[in-house]
Amino acid sequence: MNFYSTNSPQVEVPFKEAVFNSLPQDRGLYMPLTIPKLSDEFINNLGSYTLPEIAFEVAKNILAGSIPEADLKAIIDDAINFDAPVVKLEEDVYVLELFHGPSLAFKDFGARFMSRVMSYFLRDGEKMLDVLVATSGDTGGAVALGFLGVPNTRVTILYPKGKVSPIQEQQLTTNGQNIRAIEVDGTFDDCQALVKAAFVDDELNAKFRLTSANSINIARLIPQTFYYFNAYAQLLRQGKNDIVFSVPSGNFGNIGAGLLAWKMGLPVKQFLAATNANDTVPEYLNSGVYQPKPSVATLSNAMDVGAPSNWVRISHLFEDKLDDLKQLITGYTYNDEQTVESINAAFVAYDYVMCPHTAIAWRALQEWQLKHLDTKATGVFLSTAHPCKFPEVFNEEVSAKIVVPESVKEMEGKESLSVPLSKDFDGFKRWLLKNA
Ligand SMILES: *Cc1c(COP(=O)(O)O)cnc(C)c1O
Repeated sequence: MNFYSTNSPQVEVPFKEAVFNSLPQDRGLYMPLTIPKLSDEFINNLGSYTLPEIAFEVAKNILAGSIPEADLKAIIDDAINFDAPVVKLEEDVYVLELFHGPSLAFKDFGARFMSRVMSYFLRDGEKMLDVLVATSGDTGGAVALGFLGVPNTRVTILYPKGKVSPIQEQQLTTNGQNIRAIEVDGTFDDCQALVKAAFVDDELNAKFRLTSANSINIARLIPQTFYYFNAYAQLLRQGKNDIVFSVPSGNFGNIGAGLLAWKMGLPVKQFLAATNANDTVPEYLNSGVYQPKPSVATLSNAMDVGAPSNWVRISHLFEDKLDDLKQLITGYTYNDEQTVESINAAFVAYDYVMCPHTAIAWRALQEWQLKHLDTKATGVFLSTAHPCKFPEVFNEEVSAKIVVPESVKEMEGKESLSVPLSKDFDGFKRWLLKNA
């Protein structure tokens, strides 16, 4: 399977090039040239497969010819080695828990798969890959833990001092091995500016093979389709097959993967695009006018995106037919007050603690289900992160109920290996050259 750029559909590149470039020269995004339809037999029998089996079947269709099947299977078995359970909260309300990977967020699916694909393509004696990544929290943890110990790769993570949660910081800074963390005295935007400057610096490019682990990389999108098929499989086993997915959305990669799964033949009745105050997409679905705006800070900060980069992929899936798109996707937007209200309401109703991103998706599902009482559709909202990553948003009673995973306890007391630097590019460059 080859990939085209959304800005120049006539240009085709193989998977390896799409993965290492991350972003095409023309600043479009890579998409598969054709989207394979999975067989009815596979879809109807999804209930009889495990997550790794489903992942392999999906990947082998969409990546046909890019990686030999035995190697692809090994990559998947290594990358997708944790569960994504669908948990029943009440009749026709289920939560798809995507936080059982090492960084406790759904980004583990993308980061672990991408790291192994990159390492696979590098194994024939190619130059070591240097991954530079700026993070405001969740991306860095997933990339750090995704690449940890992966041969022939080295990761340098830049994060803003004092602006990530304690658990996020531990995930970034305590790894050692091939993972380096830099605490930048500045904002996330300063971190991103340093990474961007490094990518266009001749001296650094001559010395290092630089790549970004950006969330728009096609190798992060594809594995996110796996858990939609697998969620459907779990519901089929419970006799449910009329499904609505509610997806907490920021950059629209997660819901983009769901729509890709739908295009591959997964039967989905409706997708709910649930955002915080950064409502560019819900606005568009309402008005038909696509108007990106500067992002605003909210409690669900992993979704603070005013210009969602993956939206162009979704437009391409629908060939810009707004009417078709509106039939399948409904937009919802909630402010911080409503987010906290929903966290507390879920706690009362289910004795269940949701992270702020997840609470927004639950609220959207409730609103949709109230409006569609006549249908018997089963609602599944995606839980994108474990609540312990966002301790500042919960009241005491809710906080007390959070069960901190073992992996977090193991990190406690481990030494932070981060290097403090200013936001000045020359200092960052000197550090990279000195620590080659
Ligand atoms: C990244 C992230 C999101 C947003 O996902 P997109 O794919 O960017 O829409 C939502 N919730 C959490 C916890 C995240 O880390």
